[in-house]
Amino acid sequence: MSDRPTISAAPRDATAIDAVLDLFGPGALRLAAAAGTKVIHLRSTDRYRDRSPALRRLASGVDDWPIPPAGLFVVEERTVYLRSTSVMTVAHEFAHALDCALGGGVYLSGVDPRIRRAFRGARAFVTPYAASGLDEYFAECLRAWVEANDPRSPWPRATRARLHEIDPAMATILESLFAYDLVP
Ligand SMILES: [Zn+2]
Repeated sequence: MSDRPTISAAPRDATAIDAVLDLFGPGALRLAAAAGTKVIHLRSTDRYRDRSPALRRLASGVDDWPIPPAGLFVVEERTVYLRSTSVMTVAHEFAHALDCALGGGVYLSGVDPRIRRAFRGARAFVTPYAASGLDEYFAECLRAWVEANDPRSPWPRATRARLHEIDPAMATILESLFAYDLVP
């Protein structure tokens, strides 16, 4: 069993992806690997449905969006699909993969009452996207926890200090999850 998720990408892209995954720490990478997490970088001509059997079967329309998403995580395949290897994209999608690994195949954020309570009680969000649903809330808070940011994002920098300041309840939850380096 590998200590890291499997990455399928050209060497230079794999290096960029690996560098972002490192931000999460060895325990998180082991957990993701044990859950069978894969990371696949799409070639520029690939559509999501070319690479993902689930998206093909579900006749997902993401490829036909005016601007297809920079990345996505498919729960049933435990797979992160990336069009972009930007730090923000890789970290956000990998955070979904960890949410799924922590929940044993379903999103922890969907079943953990502490996270639900923190989301409901939040007065402000670490990034605008964090407000859009429990799973995005978890992913963006975790991205802040590991401080994965793109230099040119118009959003405020997602940092651990900002999370503590804006959403102390969620900061406490992530602190407890990472207290043992995500080792259950
Ligand atoms: Zn997301």
